[in-house]
Amino acid sequence: EAISVADFAKAVSKKATEIVAKLIKLGVMANINQVIDAETAELLADEYGAMVEIRKLDHEHLLSTEDDIQENLQSRSPIVTIMGHVDHGKTSLLDSIRSSAVVTGEAGGITQHIGAYNVDLGSGKKIAFLDTPGHEAFTQMRARGAKVTDIVILVVAADDGVMPQTIEAINHAKAAGVPIIVAVNKIDKPDANPQRVMQELAERDLLPEEWGGTTIYCNISAKERIGIDNLMEMIMLQAEILDLKANPEREARGTVVESKLDKQRGAVSTILVQNGTLRKGDIVIAGTCYGRVRAMFDDRGKPINEAGPSTPVEVLGINGVPEAGDLAAVVADEKTARQICTSREEKVKNTELTSKGKMTLDDLFSHMQSGTIKELGIIIKADVHGSAEAIATSLEKFPSDQVKLRIIHKGAGGITETDVNLASASNAIIIGFSVRAEPKAAELAQREGVDVRLYNIIYEVVEDIKKAMEGLLDKQV
Ligand code: GDP
Repeated sequence: EAISVADFAKAVSKKATEIVAKLIKLGVMANINQVIDAETAELLADEYGAMVEIRKLDHEHLLSTEDDIQENLQSRSPIVTIMGHVDHGKTSLLDSIRSSAVVTGEAGGITQHIGAYNVDLGSGKKIAFLDTPGHEAFTQMRARGAKVTDIVILVVAADDGVMPQTIEAINHAKAAGVPIIVAVNKIDKPDANPQRVMQELAERDLLPEEWGGTTIYCNISAKERIGIDNLMEMIMLQAEILDLKANPEREARGTVVESKLDKQRGAVSTILVQNGTLRKGDIVIAGTCYGRVRAMFDDRGKPINEAGPSTPVEVLGINGVPEAGDLAAVVADEKTARQICTSREEKVKNTELTSKGKMTLDDLFSHMQSGTIKELGIIIKADVHGSAEAIATSLEKFPSDQVKLRIIHKGAGGITETDVNLASASNAIIIGFSVRAEPKAAELAQREGVDVRLYNIIYEVVEDIKKAMEGLLDKQV
């Protein structure tokens, strides 16, 4: 399998320039974007004690269908996450979707909370919903490298309008490049004003279709179950546009969405299969755990023997509890599984020792020179909205032909764990203005190698970025 120098560098957490140097020693002249053949990759992999096998099992390649045979690719159901401000009705919407699905679905099924569930719309149409709503869980998984959402449903209460967490949700979905469908909820309320919601969101790049934009809006009441069927249809419509594909013929790959130790059943993991088909008896690795699939259950607790793409399943037989966001993949045999897990554990240890190769202002200049960075993602948190705006404005008009500054998120308040996860997932830095990082957030930033910079004078923010671009920034200790 061929791989580019840049991808290889990423896979073994080294600088691309270092790989280029190694290649030269091996007698191969290559630049960063060049593709090296499988044999050379193996040689290099040996040097780094990594296995090419590991990379194949990395998240980045999980959803890539490039090595699948075209004829085997089939449409798959969309995977959906619900986001929105607190109390705007995320949980109510999930419940109302689930219970209507139970009513129309097979009789006798008691729904189990396994972290995700499938809704059958009939005539072969299905939607998978993740059970943990909100952008915090979404971005936490993303910070681990997981990509488990095709479409975000943004719930906005029609009597309350756009709120701080609505904006956060938009920014988190955008940073992930996931399309948004707006569900304007609580339209049963007398003071509901869906028009106002549209107006407020149109200002944030979510221009409704009826106003010439591309964003789908649905008026719903999660409580009174109004407009739910229409919302489901709109999800299917968006899914069609996305043209989601998977290859049910291959060995399964997916993501762990939940796992727990059950008194009776032992270690239980919910895996959302994203490509391939998972079968009873398969050897599966999940994070640094592995095992033979002893039994599988669907979201109704019904035993099943196989699960295709976009299906969440409870799996018994894994020798531990992997973390949500861990990659799950089927491998040939137990020996391979053991080997991969051992080297993964080492890799985890190593990446904990070295920083994770995250973007920092100190490194900006060298990244610019080696051409490995085109834009610098920035998250701004300030004591008041006005300051965040002011910093964003001055950074946005920052002149640079080499690196684009992209404000991923800006808001008022201290730096939270969710901010750090967003920065980690988007390889961005965080600028705090007259605020501090919450203790847990500071800890996480340290662990993840996320660059957090604190300021009290706006001018100094701009000055530091300028210096960083010129390679003149004093190293922060
Ligand atoms: P979450 O925090 O976003 O998960 O919001 P919840 O689903 O917990 O809902 C918050 C409150 O709004 C609860 O008291 C719900 O009963 C209420 N609620 C949710 N959806 C609707 C709706 O469509 N109409 C009305 N009137 N109330 C709703």
